[in-house]
Amino acid sequence: MEQLKAAIRDIPDFPKPGVGFKDITPLLADPATFKLAIDLFKERHAGNQIDMVVGIEARGFIFASALAYALGAGTCLVRKPGKLPHAVHQQTYELEYGTDTVEIHSDAFKPGQRILIIDDVLATGGTVAATIDLISTNFDVEIVESDFLMELGFLNGRARLGSNPIHALLTY
Ligand code: 5GP
Repeated sequence: MEQLKAAIRDIPDFPKPGVGFKDITPLLADPATFKLAIDLFKERHAGNQIDMVVGIEARGFIFASALAYALGAGTCLVRKPGKLPHAVHQQTYELEYGTDTVEIHSDAFKPGQRILIIDDVLATGGTVAATIDLISTNFDVEIVESDFLMELGFLNGRARLGSNPIHALLTY
């Protein structure tokens, strides 16, 4: 885990003053740390049937596609509004100032499929909570877990997620 933490850098005042941003691009750029992260997710779900890995825009896509390949699963995209070409379901959620929306194709899953959600960072939990609502209200599937490279524990995103299973490789 120290190897992973060492490959994440802090960017002060990004994207706005007062915010400390965890930049994962060095971790992605190093073949050893990118492989380690994917291997750790893969080990966690080995022997556990996962049919689809859902990636949340945009860095979630990077982990979702590599992990889906490693697990022999399919992958699917949860995107910001207006990006998906086919019919969508959508879910709007509250931000500190205003709202945001996530979308998924309305034919993303088959009934009974076992779904893993993945993103790079769990911060306030708003994005993944909306993604869980989006999937669970529109599809008859089982959400096995939501996984993250890192959890910003001081933002207490878990509190927003109730009993939904959450796992993060790293905690800050
Ligand atoms: P939340 O909805 O949990 O507040 O924010 C999570 C979303 O914002 C994730 O999609 C994540 O990519 C992005 N995010 C928030 N803070 C950071 C950060 O410090 N570093 C990175 N890489 N992404 C962040």
